[in-house]
Amino acid sequence: MVVKNYKYRIYPTGKQKIRLEKQFEICKNLHNDLLEISKETYTCSGKSVTSRKDLYQVTNILKEQNGYKGHSQVLQNVADKLSKSYKAFYQRIKEKQKGKKVKVGYPRFKKRINSITYPQNNSCFKFKNQRRLHITQIGSVPIELHRIPKGTPKTLTIKKTLSNKWFVSFSCEIENKPVKHKYPENKTGIDLGLENFATLSDGTVIENPRFLNKTEKKLKREHRRLSKKKKRSINRSKQRVKLARSYETLTNQRLDFLHKLSYHLTQQYDFIAIENLGVSNMVKNHYLAKSISDASWSVFTGMLTYKASSAGGKLVEIDRFYPSSQICSDCGNKQDMPLSKRIYKCEKCGAKIPRDKNSAINILMEGIKENTAGRVGIHACGDLTSTDQSASRVVEAGTICN
Ligand SMILES: [Zn+2]
Repeated sequence: MVVKNYKYRIYPTGKQKIRLEKQFEICKNLHNDLLEISKETYTCSGKSVTSRKDLYQVTNILKEQNGYKGHSQVLQNVADKLSKSYKAFYQRIKEKQKGKKVKVGYPRFKKRINSITYPQNNSCFKFKNQRRLHITQIGSVPIELHRIPKGTPKTLTIKKTLSNKWFVSFSCEIENKPVKHKYPENKTGIDLGLENFATLSDGTVIENPRFLNKTEKKLKREHRRLSKKKKRSINRSKQRVKLARSYETLTNQRLDFLHKLSYHLTQQYDFIAIENLGVSNMVKNHYLAKSISDASWSVFTGMLTYKASSAGGKLVEIDRFYPSSQICSDCGNKQDMPLSKRIYKCEKCGAKIPRDKNSAINILMEGIKENTAGRVGIHACGDLTSTDQSASRVVEAGTICN
């Protein structure tokens, strides 16, 4: 089973918008109340109120005390999320104690919440027909169902973007469908770079789409316009929406590129090796930061992971300290390779090979080695024999639209 998200634009009416925004407000207040209570309980009695069960209990009390109206599961979801962020917080503390460089970051109070989630229950939402989605306590909302979601919808999230657009997304559990790869048992290594987005081990170069550079001018202009508007004026809020739209366009362009590329690769190859880059560490370097976030490596790796898994392929991430650029892919000789050298000239065997291609071949070799040695940890995926059939009943595509 794999979980897949389907996102659709919705067009709530004025009244529905008011209802939804009220829900956002209630969820925000509940989140802040829960956080405050668990903080206070800890300072007063040393007891931690951070588990799901505890937070549910507090939620029920708060619901009566403060008159929080809303779907019970939506409110529970707020507690769920807070409990998750506490878990992550404890995890970070552990990592810090082990000596890793992480910011511990206590869960924060929120100024606003822009989405609500109806979890694990189909009866909260139902398709009336292809054009309308009925949501409990909100009503029948017009939806643009540009494609039919497959599988069983597990949760529904309603979201409002900064540019004032509304979306719903369903997370559905669907069965893996291994594809016939174009080159069965064909393997590739991918070297991600700054000059080019990626280089494959067969020498194929995928150029970097520098969307940010292209849209940068426009973004700068919108930013400048925003700064000139009077604070708290209507024009300022209009301009803020315009700016948000430009950013949205950029994100969409970027995601589109990454989706298409990762799809293409996972359809073609059934074994992909890639470097684990530790992007969060590199983004701290301000000189490289823009290019890296532009290139969106981590998003790309995430996409490759789940797409390889659902296509029945395998993705192996190799250790980030593996010196892929320093080793000669022909003879295994290791030599210094400053970033300025674009061609690998081996001092030992005399091989001449483009730097990125050399890295990609090394990454592939190392990936195969790790894989056969069985050392591929949590990053490996695509083991289709262990899919859990009992996890969910698979509904034929389209049946939920009745
Ligand atoms: Zn060599």
